[in-house]
Amino acid sequence: AIKTTPLLRFSSVSSISRSISTLILAEHDGGAIKSQSISAVEAAKSVDKQTSISLLLAGSGPSLQQAAAHAASCHPSISQVLVADSDKFTHPLAETWARLVQLVQQKGGYSHIITASNSFGKNILPRAAALLDVSPITDVIAISSSNQFVRPIYAGNALCTVRYSGNNPCMLSVRSTSFAVSMDSKSNEAPISQVDLSTFNEDSVGKSRYINHTAQVTERPDLGNAQVVITGGRALKSAENFKMIEKLAEKLGAAVGATRAAVDAGFVPNDLQVGQTGKIVAPKLYMAFGVSGAIQHLAGIRDSKVIVAVNKDADAPIFQVADYGLVGDLFEVIPELLEKLPEK
Ligand code: FAD
Repeated sequence: AIKTTPLLRFSSVSSISRSISTLILAEHDGGAIKSQSISAVEAAKSVDKQTSISLLLAGSGPSLQQAAAHAASCHPSISQVLVADSDKFTHPLAETWARLVQLVQQKGGYSHIITASNSFGKNILPRAAALLDVSPITDVIAISSSNQFVRPIYAGNALCTVRYSGNNPCMLSVRSTSFAVSMDSKSNEAPISQVDLSTFNEDSVGKSRYINHTAQVTERPDLGNAQVVITGGRALKSAENFKMIEKLAEKLGAAVGATRAAVDAGFVPNDLQVGQTGKIVAPKLYMAFGVSGAIQHLAGIRDSKVIVAVNKDADAPIFQVADYGLVGDLFEVIPELLEKLPEK
């Protein structure tokens, strides 16, 4: 990537107060905090090593209480866990969450609010920022100081350093692939407090309604966190042929990814899309079969440690970023790999 360091100055009203306190907007599922939210805690540590970190959880019922217990012990830097327990938060609607963030910010006066740059964070952050009248900084990949952040622009072809000089709070969404959770994290027991919702104005919440949630049930690793990702492109030609990619992924214990062209052609559902408008991945091994390497696709795979590409066109742009490339027909290469790789 070409590195540029233009300083984009947001309209300056007042600078961030010296005392740094961070609120993490956290997502939970099945009674546990999602790993992307724990990465947001790591990001908060980069804002300021001494920052006090409050983690906000919302939901209802026993799974929320389990998630709160997990949050209290999942990272030594979490100072407190704030729990908003109400039926209003059973499903994470952006409008309800944004009002909650506003309420918690009014009471806590945090200097920073951070969330993961995933569908949960991308859904809530802009609306909450609008309510708090600040400009959010999205997709942060590095934090140089409490008000200076690096984010990719032009589909990751340039890195832009942004200095925030707006009002408190400074609101960020961070790419979890850039803030790895340190393995030496020891558990502690942060206190858990209930958010006082007596002043939460339900009438002010918008008109959207939760209808249902559909998710694929799979034993394969989550695409966003997988160590190995096997991706197929348009060249697979059909959903039936795409099963070869799935078989290979099973043998390697990998997650399956797809290009937008493969998703648009209906080979796989769109939650498998990798790239600028899909998921950002950073596995140890990324294998791309029949993927041309369009700039929008590369935007999602740049942080992969090793990229392997198989394409029958020696001039395909994917070979410019691949660590290992094979010019060949995937319909010959994949069956051979399937035959030679041992059963998992
Ligand atoms: P193609 O570009 O058609 O490439 C297919 C490749 O397969 C070719 O290189 C060909 O040589 C090779 N091939 C053909 N047959 C074989 C064979 N038998 N064996 C081996 N190789 C073979 N795309 C994304 O992926 N993710 C995104 O998030 C994304 N976001 C976008 C956002 C915007 C605003 C826009 C405009 C586009 C976006 N795209 C995205 C689309 C992107 O520009 C490309 O169109 C897409 O990535 C191409 O997918 P592909 O590589 O599968 O298909």
